[in-house]
Amino acid sequence: MSEIETEELSLSDIYNLSLKVFTKNGCNGNNATALSKIVHDAERDGSLSHGLFRIPGYVASLRSGKVKGDAEPVIDNSLPSVISIDGNYGFAPYALEKGLPYLSNSAEQLGIAIMKITNTFHFAALWPETEFLANKGLVGIACTAAKPMVAPAGAKKAFFGTNPISFAWPRIGETPIVFDMATSRLAMGDVQIAARDGHQLPDGTGLGPNGEPTNNPKDVIKGVLLPFGGYKGSAISLMVELLSAGLTGDNFSYEAGEKDNNDGGPPKGGELVIAISPKLVAGNNWEKHTLDFIKKLKELEGIRIPGERRHKNRFNTGLRKINKEMLQKVRNLL
Ligand code: NDP
Repeated sequence: MSEIETEELSLSDIYNLSLKVFTKNGCNGNNATALSKIVHDAERDGSLSHGLFRIPGYVASLRSGKVKGDAEPVIDNSLPSVISIDGNYGFAPYALEKGLPYLSNSAEQLGIAIMKITNTFHFAALWPETEFLANKGLVGIACTAAKPMVAPAGAKKAFFGTNPISFAWPRIGETPIVFDMATSRLAMGDVQIAARDGHQLPDGTGLGPNGEPTNNPKDVIKGVLLPFGGYKGSAISLMVELLSAGLTGDNFSYEAGEKDNNDGGPPKGGELVIAISPKLVAGNNWEKHTLDFIKKLKELEGIRIPGERRHKNRFNTGLRKINKEMLQKVRNLL
């Protein structure tokens, strides 16, 4: 296999390049900065399928007119425990940036609150929203549907999205415990990266166009992904559909698929974010109690805590090696 060519960029270069591309392609200041921060944070943490790699898709949706680069999300907090945000056909990061402080305030006062986001286009990782809450001492849960890419357990036809779910648990003075995962065996972004880099996929990732299992990423892109863990992952994906579409009133994945213009960017959909105060629910001992639990867990041989890989990357402020071909694609959007 040929060596993949890379170019070194600083984190501020990554942020500035993103800002220029988003601004040049129709984003106003608030949307461009919210998106660039998301791209920067993904590259900083090594969430490579959701950083610079996503920019061509974001730009395709700005250029096709599907997504509004000047969208101003509108917040309705007339119900104390339910924050509703209408994203007004913009990308999710600015709606989240505006809405999350309302959500955390409500959960801090009431013990639990939810935020439903509608009319947005989510193309990022979900840990930024759950970590925002954990950094305020709250438990965060977030999920969103997409468009059909995953065959539910037993089926051969795509019906679910890759339907990610993220959970973050606060640790005062430390990085939170966070998982953020697609409910498919692999996220589509990772399959695309494997296809680009000539890597084979792990068993159980997907079916080819003929409905047969395959390890070839190019065949899976033409076929369907499978849920992680068979019928169990399929059940969690079903829950994500119901929470992020049934409960928000926005698109189920199949509805998003029917309406999307397939411009290469994300489909329109909803997101549900839940915030819970452990202090108000479990009482003041919550922190010591859970730190003791994590300490015991970490004593087990072979254990790795979800989120640890990203958080370790975060403390490295040095240059990042970026795939040169992908970087050129991003620069060509200027
Ligand atoms: P991964 O399978 O890479 O990782 C899932 C989680 O498991 C991470 O929290 C990771 O922690 C943790 N983890 C990985 N390996 C181990 C291990 N050996 N032991 C313990 N924990 C481990 O993620 P996915 O490929 O499923 O998803 C990638 C991203 O795609 C997510 O951020 C998701 O939000 C995003 N996505 C977004 C969509 C959208 O519509 N916006 C659609 C689908 C996916 P760590 O991070 O530290 O490695």
